Amino acid sequence: MLLEVENLYAGYGKIEALHGISFHVNEGEIVTLIGANGAGKSTTLKAIMRLTPPESPTVFSGDIRFKGKSILKTEAHNIVAHLKMDLVPEGRHIFGNLTVHENLKLATWTRKGSGIEKDMDRVFDLFPRLKERMHQRSDTLSGGEQQMLAVGRALMTDCSVILLDEPSMGLSPLLMYDMFRTFKKLNSEGLTVIVVEQNARLALQVADRGYVLDTGAIVAQGTAAELADTPEIKAAYLGA
Ligand code: ATP
Repeated sequence: MLLEVENLYAGYGKIEALHGISFHVNEGEIVTLIGANGAGKSTTLKAIMRLTPPESPTVFSGDIRFKGKSILKTEAHNIVAHLKMDLVPEGRHIFGNLTVHENLKLATWTRKGSGIEKDMDRVFDLFPRLKERMHQRSDTLSGGEQQMLAVGRALMTDCSVILLDEPSMGLSPLLMYDMFRTFKKLNSEGLTVIVVEQNARLALQVADRGYVLDTGAIVAQGTAAELADTPEIKAAYLGA
């Protein structure tokens, strides 16, 4: 098991958003967390990356283990630099006043130098539009291009696990499918993918397994095919 979340409680101040969730991700898998607005999907990713406020023990307990070792005391920057996990946050959070190239370059701060140019070429191969717009200010990119940049930036950290928060948000249907095809390709090249999505239909098409979150609790889990075939999930999340 690569990543194990065990009985995790997390939240913000006095607000408990996750009420003891447990799930795991194996190396090389695509795992999706699906659920409605406010179910706790983003909070789960932020908790893994140690980005939820840790100060109140009443709202943070349980364990998160990476390759069997607890990472509760690991700081976010070390999760990126040493554990090689990176988050593509909802809303992208790219630096608008920097160019595409500068944003990609900035993401390599955790690295020692080798392989950076090769990875830059790889990002440009995956997203040729970014190559065309290499010297363009990032805040002038379209929403889809910004999403490509956000994914590209995570790849530039040389991550082996990518956490994607609502990557389909704001994308046209065509671009959405392209983006998910890219995740599948990256996964076939060895990247482990954890993807949080409101578009459950799309997520279950590419994922190996999934978990359904409902108001801070996991209410269903299984292979993507099993979940897509469960009548309650079809009715609640797949619009069937
Ligand atoms: P969405 O699909 O709408 O992004 P989500 O499943 O990702 O939803 P979260 O963003 O994890 O849900 O939110 C879970 C709960 O935590 C919600 O009730 C939300 O209001 C609350 N919450 C999230 N961020 C904060 C914050 N910074 N401060 C206080 N409460 C928060």
